Amino acid sequence: MLNIQENIPLAEYTSFRIGGPAKFFVEVSTKDELLEALDYAKENSLFFFILGGGSNLLVSDQGFDGLIIKMKLNGFKIVGNSIEAESGVALAKVVNSSINEGLTGMEWAAGIPGTVGGATRGNTGAYGKSIADVIKSVEALETSKLQATRPQRLSVAMAGVANYKLQDCKYGYKDNIFKQNPNLIVLSVKIKLQKGDKEKSQQEIREMMEKRRINHPQGVGSAGCFFINPVVTDEKVIEELKKDGIECRDGQVPAWWLIDDVGLRGKKIGGAIVSEEHTNFIVNAGGATAEDIITLVSLIKQKVRNKFNIQLREEVQYLGF
Ligand SMILES: Cc1cc2nc3c(=O)[nH]c(=O)nc-3n(C[C@H](O)[C@H](O)[C@H](O)COP(=O)(O)OP(=O)(O)OC[C@H]3O[C@@H](n4cnc5c(N)ncnc54)[C@H](O)[C@@H]3O)c2cc1C
Repeated sequence: MLNIQENIPLAEYTSFRIGGPAKFFVEVSTKDELLEALDYAKENSLFFFILGGGSNLLVSDQGFDGLIIKMKLNGFKIVGNSIEAESGVALAKVVNSSINEGLTGMEWAAGIPGTVGGATRGNTGAYGKSIADVIKSVEALETSKLQATRPQRLSVAMAGVANYKLQDCKYGYKDNIFKQNPNLIVLSVKIKLQKGDKEKSQQEIREMMEKRRINHPQGVGSAGCFFINPVVTDEKVIEELKKDGIECRDGQVPAWWLIDDVGLRGKKIGGAIVSEEHTNFIVNAGGATAEDIITLVSLIKQKVRNKFNIQLREEVQYLGF
């Protein structure tokens, strides 16, 4: 029996620590519970939203007038060089368990919060690597294919469940079919790693964590990098970057550089600040509202557009706006 709660403050479910209440909120630990929750939304004509770790999310101050489905599906196993993880498993668990088993391939994800589901949908990555490099297949539920699922909930619903091989997921930089199609809910992921050297992996992780400690804001609310790095062909911009010793990977200009160049490092609106340590991080320095963040985001986009004719796009997802 599902425990559907009402009027639950969402701020505590996000790394930004911002956001009003969810009208309805439920945690699901099994596929069957997920289907029950989707049934509930359908029967009550509610919008629903799938919540992972809330680490790439900005919730409006008014909250969300629908059903939040918090993914707690936590099945996890390692077989040989492969990992099977359900979508609610923390990415950190995948990193730690793989290293403990002497497997290599997940080191880049050390220090990234959130769940396997959120990472699969966002093509989460760092230091030139991403989850798409290790995914073998993804099991996902296509909610638009769900009929009324009672009384034979699972068997009928299975019509909407499919396995997507890596090439079917159409991964690109911060892009894939799960992002393009909001009706797809990631249920579980198969990850393929290699046999590695535990000591070497641990050393790599220590170095990456140190880089994060130095270059990322610490001890404040944020949602990681706020903007996607735009692809730029303007030779003048590329030249300027070269002068600063910055390389454009796959034609991408680091969004932090654009924001820094328009003079917004440290810019504060209400409780929202452009991080001094990393200008693509907007931080909640205490008491920031979603309104503060959005106002700062608008200013950043406007200044970058005016100077570089580049339209920044958010990596962070908005909810309830
Ligand atoms: C301090 C910090 C550092 C970070 N560093 C990085 C970094 O180095 N690289 C990077 O890429 N990101 C980084 N991030 C951003 C964030 O951690 C990742 O994007 C993370 O993978 C998001 O996962 P989540 O479970 O928290 O997703 P959520 O924030 O809960 O959700 C994000 C989106 O994914 C959807 N979603 C969640 N679960 C599912 C599912 N099962 N099926 C379908 N859709 C789903 C949600 O509906 C939402 O649209 C950082 C964030 C913070 C706070």
